[in-house]
Amino acid sequence: MSGNNPAESSPAHRSPLTAHPRHAIGVLGGTFDPIHFGHLRLAEEMAEAIGLGEVRFIPAGQPPHRAAPHAAAPHRLAMVRRAVAGNPYFAVDAREVDSPRPSYTVDTLTALRAELGSKQPLWLLLGADAFLGLTSWHAWRRLFELAHIAVAARPGAQLLQSDSMSDELRREVSQRHVADGSAAGPAGSVLLRQMTPLDISATAIRHTLARQGSVRYLLPDAVLDYIHEHHLYGTA
Ligand code: ATP
Repeated sequence: MSGNNPAESSPAHRSPLTAHPRHAIGVLGGTFDPIHFGHLRLAEEMAEAIGLGEVRFIPAGQPPHRAAPHAAAPHRLAMVRRAVAGNPYFAVDAREVDSPRPSYTVDTLTALRAELGSKQPLWLLLGADAFLGLTSWHAWRRLFELAHIAVAARPGAQLLQSDSMSDELRREVSQRHVADGSAAGPAGSVLLRQMTPLDISATAIRHTLARQGSVRYLLPDAVLDYIHEHHLYGTA
């Protein structure tokens, strides 16, 4: 984690996030295989909309829900560190990468809750695709006891009306839905928020790299440099 204190290091051009003290913490998990601008804009736009004082990027070690990532955990962690360097609001948390066990979000949030105390507002940040699969996550209902959930939806997409949302998730959302990020309390609300649509995926980036194509402007240059330095994803 960076250990930066946002209050001391906020540059003037970040004024939307510095207008008043920010208390809430955002958590963005992912395989980040590799991290790209879709992830970074999700964090940035949610930080601004909710008024987060910090977003913690938590790369998954061995994610339980999917096939093993392509790049080894230390590489994915290093790429996330490079991507967030220089943003005083973004921090990296290596706990899942350092753990020998599969990373369950509920365990990570439980640990964060124990460290930060019961009053700390926490926001789990999710893309709509991840949110729609929530009911398959381990102990998913407990997530609402541990954090608020902010979902980045596509403009025009009626997430609540989506056929892809299970009835049990729809019930949770309709009870917990809030209109903005000023939700009271440390956990339990669901915010659906439109973000700038960026049709970027790590899968497409990996495929393009494997055929020696260009992925410039889809992810930070510092991440692309790292990929080439370490010959990741089939790069020459
Ligand atoms: P892959 O293509 O390997 O499945 P990914 O690009 O979807 O990877 P993940 O690490 O699985 O990235 O995603 C982490 C989080 O970021 C998830 O909540 C996901 O919904 C969200 N996310 C990923 N890409 C975007 C994007 N382009 N716009 C908004 N959210 C995104």
